[in-house]
Amino acid sequence: MTKSIFTLALHAGSPPAPDFIPVVPPIYTAVTYTYPFMKDMEAVFSGEKSGYVYARHGAPTTASLEKAVAALEGGDAALAFSSGMAAIHAALLATGIKKEDCILAANDLYGATRTLLAQHYQNMGIKTYFVDIFNLQQVEDTLETAAPKVLFFESISNPLLRVANIPELTALAHQYNTRVIVDSTFATPYLITPLQHGADLVVHSSTKYISGHGDALGGVVTYHREFQEPLYDISKMLGATLGPFEAYLTLRGLKTLPLRMKRHCENALAVAECLKKNPRIRAVHYPGLSTHPHHDLASRLYEEKGYGGVVTFEIKNAGQKEVFAFFEALTLITPATSLGDIYSLILYPVHASHRGLTSEERKSVGITEGMVRLSVGIEDSRDIIADIEQGLQSL
Ligand SMILES: *Cc1c(COP(=O)(O)O)cnc(C)c1O
Repeated sequence: MTKSIFTLALHAGSPPAPDFIPVVPPIYTAVTYTYPFMKDMEAVFSGEKSGYVYARHGAPTTASLEKAVAALEGGDAALAFSSGMAAIHAALLATGIKKEDCILAANDLYGATRTLLAQHYQNMGIKTYFVDIFNLQQVEDTLETAAPKVLFFESISNPLLRVANIPELTALAHQYNTRVIVDSTFATPYLITPLQHGADLVVHSSTKYISGHGDALGGVVTYHREFQEPLYDISKMLGATLGPFEAYLTLRGLKTLPLRMKRHCENALAVAECLKKNPRIRAVHYPGLSTHPHHDLASRLYEEKGYGGVVTFEIKNAGQKEVFAFFEALTLITPATSLGDIYSLILYPVHASHRGLTSEERKSVGITEGMVRLSVGIEDSRDIIADIEQGLQSL
């Protein structure tokens, strides 16, 4: 008997047993997975066998992305999350941190990370000591006196683009049994793989360079095997799972990460060198310039592959009014928050990433009223430079 339209509409398109292999990982939207033999489903549920049962516990499209990121970072495995912040939160919890433990963190962290630690973790009874990670004595003193569970810092800081000495910091932290988490969003595995320099966990906002096209929010944690159990458990309980569409877009973006990064780095260096000669510019911060305090360190750590795609510069005698006029005069570069897109993006730290700070606090971390942060895209560098120059001329 042929089935009713009500039944056919539901079941006629059900997947056949595959006898072909798609060349590109498919977007699996299924929330649940079934097995011909119930003992197999049971084995997957209990963790005896790898597989999928429910999308919050893992799903095939996201797993393809995780496998790719783990391979690029040189980790045993990776887990993807719905945002960079969710990845950071999960990585911190995976270290086993709990009430009355403390954290040692760099004082120039991404704004939301700083708020997560200084407010939300603080309220849960976890104190964070913010230190200058370029002052090793200060780092060691805090490791010794506070015995923090975790050291957290970024591979390249924002907006001053200070380059963390990952091998030195991880070696020091491990002497005190402190776990190390590196947020490597700005450097990407193209420039450095922190796990290979001793880090315990690496986090990325994949929203930025990893996906690279400004169309998929996400985060990834890459780690050594020992963190598999706690991280996987936290991921299931946190529930900030990356959806299959974002996983697909991110994986698609990742395929060209090295090509894009090579170009971002070349363009950023060209822009930085040009800005340095411009009389309307007071200062240029870019680790690729020999005047940057961490130029030699960056050359060594990144093996001269490049210095990242972000350039920060200060416009002479400028405050908010002049910076806004400059932004509005730009015709190619887009004033918008975020970074790491193929398109050039520009941002005013005073109003965006460092909005929560008072003007005194900003001054203490080196952020001035005329400072702008440019995420150099993969356009032709001559067009990017021409846009900046005409924008400055309009002032
Ligand atoms: C953007 C960013 C984050 C947060 O990532 P989301 O994907 O926005 O949650 C964390 N760290 C750094 C360095 C970032 O640039």
